[in-house]
This record gives sequence, C-alpha cells and structure tokens, in this order.
Amino acid sequence: MVIIGAGECGARAALTLREGGFAGPVTLIGAEPHLPYERPPLSKDAMADEAEPLPRHVATGERLAEAGIVHLASTEVRLIDRQKKNVICADGTSLGYDKLLLATGSSPRRLPLAEASRRSVYLRTFDDALAIRAHLRSGVRVLIVGGGFIGLELAASARKLGCPVTVIEAQPRILMRGVPTEIAEIIHAAHAAAGVHFFCGKGIAAIEDIADGVRVQLADGHAVEGDLCVIGIGAVPNVGLAEAADLAIDNGIAADEQLRTSDPDIFAAGDCCSFPLALYGGRRVRLEAWRNAQEQGALAARNMLGGGEAHNAVPWFWSDQYDLGLQIAGLPNEGVEIVRREMGEALILFHLAADGRLVAASGIGPGNSVARDIRLAEMLIAKRAHPPQEKLAAPDAKLKALLAA
Ligand code: NAP
Repeated sequence: MVIIGAGECGARAALTLREGGFAGPVTLIGAEPHLPYERPPLSKDAMADEAEPLPRHVATGERLAEAGIVHLASTEVRLIDRQKKNVICADGTSLGYDKLLLATGSSPRRLPLAEASRRSVYLRTFDDALAIRAHLRSGVRVLIVGGGFIGLELAASARKLGCPVTVIEAQPRILMRGVPTEIAEIIHAAHAAAGVHFFCGKGIAAIEDIADGVRVQLADGHAVEGDLCVIGIGAVPNVGLAEAADLAIDNGIAADEQLRTSDPDIFAAGDCCSFPLALYGGRRVRLEAWRNAQEQGALAARNMLGGGEAHNAVPWFWSDQYDLGLQIAGLPNEGVEIVRREMGEALILFHLAADGRLVAASGIGPGNSVARDIRLAEMLIAKRAHPPQEKLAAPDAKLKALLAA
C-alpha cells in the first residue's frame, strides 16, 4: 500500500490500514520535512500564541514506527507508472504498489501580480507559518489579499499581536462562498471592531515592493501600503501526478462514491479530489476541510482493503476568529429558505430545501456556543429530516427531540 501525501488525510489512511488488519508494507510519502501534522492551528494559535509553535503531529514517529508505517519525508513523487504499478520519486527511488492512494492535498492559488514582490507570501505549510510569524509584532502593517478563511483567521491573529491589518477582497463581501451573508456580516463586524480595515469588491491592479514595504495598488486608484502582504485567495487541488498518469480529472481528481479514481487500484481522498455526495443527489463536490480529510483518508483506506463503503458524511467545518466560533454543517447553498434561531449572543441559520428538508446549518457565537446544536443539526441533515420550522426557530425547542421524532 502506497500513499502519496503525508498530511492529515494520508496519515489517517496509513493508520486506518493497520487498524483494518492489513499486515503488509505501508509507505507514506510526503514532500515536507515534517512528520504528518495538523494545519488548522497554522493561522490561529501557531501565529498568535506567545510560545514558539511546534507542529501538532497527527502521529508521532514512534507511533508510525510501532505501526510499521514507513514515512518518507522530504520526498517528492515525480511519476506514477500505472502499467508497472509503481511510483518514481525525485531521487530515483521506485516503489511498487498493489493499491495507491493520492492524498496530495491542495496548494495556495497564486496571484500572478504578486510574483515579483518578495514581501508577498502564502500560508499553507508549517514552515510558511513560521516565516510569517517571524514578521508579526506590534506595529508591523499586514496587508491581506483575500477575505476567506486564511485571510480572516490570520487577520484575527495579527490584530491580537498588535499589527495594523488591511484586508482586500475582490468579492463584494468577505466569505462569499459557502458562508451566508448574515453570518459573514457578524464576522466582518467583529473584525471591524478589532480595527481591521476592509476593501471589499476591489480588484487589484499591481503589487510592488517599495523602499520600506509593499504597496497594493487597487483598480479604483486607491493604494494601500504595508510591511508584509499575505495572499489567501483560495486553494487549487494538486492533480499534476494524476493528470500525467491520465486519470480522470473533474475539479480535482475525479473519484466515485467509494473514492476510487478511474483506475480501480488508485484511490483519491481529501482536498485533491471531487466525489459525488449522495446526500445532495450525487452532486459532485470537492471539500477543503480538516474533518473531510480525516474521514476520507480513513474511508479510502478501508476501501483499499475491499470495504466497498460509500462516502456519505455531512460536510462540516469550523473557524475561530477572536472569541467567535463559526461552524457550518451541510452545504448552505443547497437551501432555498432560511430559518433563524436566535440564542442570545449566538445565531444559527437553518437552510431548508424547497420541500422543507434540512440541508445545512450555519452557526456563529462566542466560543463553542453553537457546537452542540450544529452537531444535532448535522444528525438531522444526515437523516434527511424535514423538521417543523417553528421548532427550529424556537431557541428553547430541543433539537434532540426533533431527532428522536
Ligand atoms: P478561501 O477560503 O477560498 O478564500 C479565498 C478568498 O479570496 C475568496 O473570498 C476569494 O473570492 C478571494 N479572492 C480570490 N481571488 C482574489 C483576488 N485576486 N483578490 C482578492 N480576493 C480574491 O481560501 P483561503 O482563505 O486562501 O484558504 C485556503 C485553503 O485553506 C482553503 O482550502 C480553506 O478552506 C483552507 N482553510 C480553512 C480554514 C477553516 O476551515 N477554518 C482555515 C484556514 C484555511 P472567490 O470566491 O471569488 O474566489
């Protein structure tokens, strides 16, 4: 069993192969020098905590060794030879496989306008996080291009450290994709209250380094200057190896509901692949989220062992910014109607399809205040429930009771 990609997804897959009783060789190949680690802290605690961060490992070296998993760090796979069933690494090493998993993840979308700027950086890896963190101290002016999750989590961390922060977003509002307007407005307001400046709906004409910093020239003639510019304009799936191996591609490596690619001996999981989601009528989706990486890594591993299981989990992700916790279960864009549940300082929006089926729930509130209800909503979504709207709207009506009904 060979796994390409030693992130959350690949590491979970390797461990699951062993948990599933597989006793043969398992090799986990990763381009980064580190043991598999979790990315969620990189824009949050790893940036803002006082102590120098360490990677939060998915599995320690000892655990991998105990499980007999060979981890090849700093190793880039160059080619998959499907006829010979082997993979060839940059150093010339060739490894045969019976089953192969592509857990190659995604990479930051590059902004061509910023290519010449040495003060413009991206955040994806632990080493990227260390490099950005080294610059963040009180008074250092941070420009952020992209009002998505990377940009906003980083903005919150940088404000905690006392950096003046400006966010430039091309869309008319932040978090345009996948986060409902009302919730995005609450997040926007929290950032504004913390002193973040926003330029939304603004295209960028140029990014250039100047004598003592970097200048972002907006298309409308405005210019903003900073010491560092962090670009977070989305992620693109890493499909190069799959494409070169002639595997089907469709917004990522095209996988079926069991995460098999167009080659029955090659599976794909996590950020790099798209797959049909039964819960939404088989709509093909690609999910860039931590829990999806875990779940799909484990599912692909079980299916590499012949499990034949279909992926049927409810998409879920969270984001922490300041004292606010955001959680979204399901796909809000699948809903046509919203039912609001006001819970003091917290708010949950239930997204219903035309037939009243609950298809998503988005919650925002201090700390973990929405976690329990979003978890219950997730179970209702999985059950394809049609909960009464008046119960969803009433904060004292227990979602658990709806689940039992
Ligand atoms: P993202 O969440 O997709 O947000 C990127 C934002 O930048 C979008 O609003 C995008 O608008 C905008 N944008 C695109 N091109 C732009 C341009 N030229 N100028 C200004 N704005 C532009 O991606 P991300 O924040 O870069 O995050 C990267 C990856 O890390 C994603 O997979 C994300 O899900 C993941 N991540 C997740 C979390 C979390 O779940 N809590 C935290 C951090 C990172 P369009 O929609 O029009 O492209």
